Amino acid sequence: MGFARLNRILQLLWNQWAGMMPDSAVCKNCGQHFEYTLIHNGFNDSAYDYCDTCGGTALITAWSEPPTGVNVKFHQRLNEDVERHLKQCKCGGHFALSASPRCPHCKNLLSPIEAKTWIEANAPGTVKRWRWQSDWKGLYCIVVDGNISKDPWNDDSVP
Ligand SMILES: [Zn+2]
Ligand SMILES: [Zn+2]
Repeated sequence: MGFARLNRILQLLWNQWAGMMPDSAVCKNCGQHFEYTLIHNGFNDSAYDYCDTCGGTALITAWSEPPTGVNVKFHQRLNEDVERHLKQCKCGGHFALSASPRCPHCKNLLSPIEAKTWIEANAPGTVKRWRWQSDWKGLYCIVVDGNISKDPWNDDSVP
């Protein structure tokens, strides 16, 4: 087994483990609890965006086949020219670079600065020097209450 393949398997295991273990946060606006999962888009070989209506996460994986001519920059928030090739979100909203994750109860926008308190508090104790990126466009994305659309390519966008 080659190193690359072994590495890939370890990444998949890590993602599965992380995906099964959502963390919990409290909304500053309504005080209700919600669950979220932090995704490392480097380990995951993915890029992401958020819905402008429900705050759901779109995840584009390197394993999916993008429409011809579409160039995805992975390991970060989706580049702008990719957005128009994505389907609408399940809620009818659109995935947009200007969007942010939202509280699933009151739909208030979650601040990436305030998120620092709960994301760093929930980070595994072994990574003491790890710091949350404090924005919604870096290496990590979050999925709130399992609200994720995987590879939501719009089939009509193929030229
Ligand atoms: Zn709320
Ligand atoms: Zn949505």
